Formats: sequence, C-alpha cells, structure tokens
Amino acid sequence: MGAVDKILPQLRGLKSRGAGRWMAHCPAHDDKTPSLSIAEGADGRILLRCFADCSAAEIMDSIGLSMSDLYEGPIAHQLRPIGKAGRRLIKETLKKSGLKLDNAIFRCYDTCITP
Ligand SMILES: [Zn+2]
Repeated sequence: MGAVDKILPQLRGLKSRGAGRWMAHCPAHDDKTPSLSIAEGADGRILLRCFADCSAAEIMDSIGLSMSDLYEGPIAHQLRPIGKAGRRLIKETLKKSGLKLDNAIFRCYDTCITP
C-alpha cells in the first residue's frame, strides 16, 4: 500500500487537482474551506501544505498517522531523497540531541522538502 492510499481516505472534502495533487479540509485546524494541499512526489513521498500553516506533524497526528507514513518503504528508502547533506544533518542531529530517528525524519522534511 502506498503512502497516498493511507493518507487520502483519512481526509474530508478531498478533491483531485490533477495528477498526483489533491486539496482537502485540514484535519489539524477548524477548516471551513479546503486549505490543505497534498502532492505525491515521483518517488511516492507525500508533501503536505496547510495554508493556515499547520505543520505536517500536526496534520499527520490529527489523522492518527506518523510522519513516516508520508513515505513508502523502509527507512533507508525514506532518507534517500533527502540526499547527502540531509543524511549528514540527520547524523549530526542524532548525535547532538539524542533524538529518535522519527524526529530526524521530521526535521529533514521540515528543512529540506517543505517549500
Ligand atoms: Zn491546517
């Protein structure tokens, strides 16, 4: 099951906006008009963007999923799209703060992928 198959059924007011793009009501705030944009990357990674600035972590939490559900496959695959600099950032972050790997993925999502 792809990441998109896990996430889309959890969202209200889902509307297609072309290939691999959707809009829906944001589950993380009181959303009157659909303000959550969902896009599926070529590698199966899901990008979430709420126009009210809810974080991807808040959105995933609201629908009972975790940040790693934004990605398909094992962790090695999840980290690959981020690139060398991203992997270095993860290693340094883990060393400095003792964060769990999940948090490291969130950190990279936040700094490397979110526009
Ligand atoms: Zn929101």
